Amino acid sequence: MNQYILEIIYLIASVTFVVGLKMLSEPQSARRGNLWAAFGMTIAIVGTIFLYQSKDPNTQTSRETIKLAFIFAGIGLGTIIGWATAKKVKMTAMPELVSLFNGMGGACAALISLLEFHHNVGHPERISVIMAGMIIGSVSFSGSIIAFMKLNGTLNKSYRLPNYNIINTLLMIVTIGAGVWLTVSGSDSMSMLLLVFGLSILYGVSFVVPIGGADMPVVISLLNSFTGLAAAFGGFLYGNQVMLTGGILVGSAGTLLTVAMCRAMNRPLYSVIFGAFGESSAAASGVSSTGGSIKDISISDTAVLMNYSKKVVIVPGYGLAVAQAQHVIHELEELLEERGVEVKYAIHPVAGRMPGHMNVLLAESNVDYGKLAEMDEINPEFASTDVVLVVGANDVVNPAAKTDPSSPIYGMPILDVENAKHIIVNKRSMNAGYAGIENMLFYDPKTSMLFGDAKDALTKLVAELKTM
Ligand code: NDP
Repeated sequence: MNQYILEIIYLIASVTFVVGLKMLSEPQSARRGNLWAAFGMTIAIVGTIFLYQSKDPNTQTSRETIKLAFIFAGIGLGTIIGWATAKKVKMTAMPELVSLFNGMGGACAALISLLEFHHNVGHPERISVIMAGMIIGSVSFSGSIIAFMKLNGTLNKSYRLPNYNIINTLLMIVTIGAGVWLTVSGSDSMSMLLLVFGLSILYGVSFVVPIGGADMPVVISLLNSFTGLAAAFGGFLYGNQVMLTGGILVGSAGTLLTVAMCRAMNRPLYSVIFGAFGESSAAASGVSSTGGSIKDISISDTAVLMNYSKKVVIVPGYGLAVAQAQHVIHELEELLEERGVEVKYAIHPVAGRMPGHMNVLLAESNVDYGKLAEMDEINPEFASTDVVLVVGANDVVNPAAKTDPSSPIYGMPILDVENAKHIIVNKRSMNAGYAGIENMLFYDPKTSMLFGDAKDALTKLVAELKTM
């Protein structure tokens, strides 16, 4: 009887995952989608703890042997840490937190494999699943920790050993080879198991460390799909439908996102993994002096220019999130629209620090979703735009991506803001963005720099516009 109830619970949970995922695709419904999926996960966990009965007398997870106290202590501790961290985290640190949580998912899958190995020796089909879960989960864990460090600036360089591609490929072959050996030999060697685990962790590190700035979004979504896949292997091992469904959903969503990001970046996946973005070059090593000159613009001149425009395109970037200027930019947009100016937002697929970062940020301030234009849609419109206001964006408007083959971001599609009549760039200094390279757009004769914190500058701009 319990088993039937549990299966119904799993079915309901799986449906909530699918519905939740669907709702995540629209900013308006994303929060509710998250709650639906969290509800499904909660009932699946509670149901498993109280209703699961193992058919296999050898398995350690039979109800009799479950250590409820340990389970609840773990859940309690995880909930407190997760809740407190998520509550406290600043919006700008969200991407690194997501990366860390993703790594924890991979670590869980790897731990399941480590624990279950000995109970399944002699069953090659089960050991193969365990090995796959352990290798993929461990790579996802260590890779996500490196991504976390890169996003929060602890590790801000892309270290590359000479011939790192060959070294990484050999490491991958040796790791998979050792896993296959454990599967087919029927060995129960603990040291061999730990070797596969250690090699997988090492591979995760050596895989992500060399990847450069502009490729990080793709790697993050790839690691996401790894975690889903590793969890799905866990579900397969336990014959647990909800774990399997959840893992497959995360794995396939991550894979689709990876493909979409690669397309948006105009990069095949193999060249992200073995590729050239972030390759050390003179340009990447710091801001070089070009001898070009920049032009400042005041708040009042900016207000006049915008007030008398027909069409304004706002390009939000990471700095908008840092300054938490999403509400004031919406106010600016409304003010301009009241005066008959057409306003749109140009959304670059890797603007900010996580996929969809700008959409989430602008949805928070209730910007009409119809005003957000994807890169391919907005690029042809810049030529008919009077003013482009770049707020805290840098790499996504860097023309070096089109003009300088030696640039580490060469080949990345960017927003063609230089085609507009006037470009106003708001940032605090001449400092570089995430890719660490100089931006010649700032020296373009059509560009004016509006220096200052985005929230501060936009608040003053709104106040100035109100007086006109
Ligand atoms: P960038 O990181 O290129 O530039 C952000 C700019 O914002 C900086 O140059 C900074 O200049 C400015 N800034 C910072 N704080 C403020 C503030 N308070 N007010 C005003 N300006 C501020 O951002 P983009 O969005 O253009 O590009 C994103 C980059 O991040 C890309 O290279 C992308 O590959 C990478 N990335 C993206 C991920 C994703 O999934 N979206 C994930 C990982 C990396 P200053 O200091 O002078 O103010």
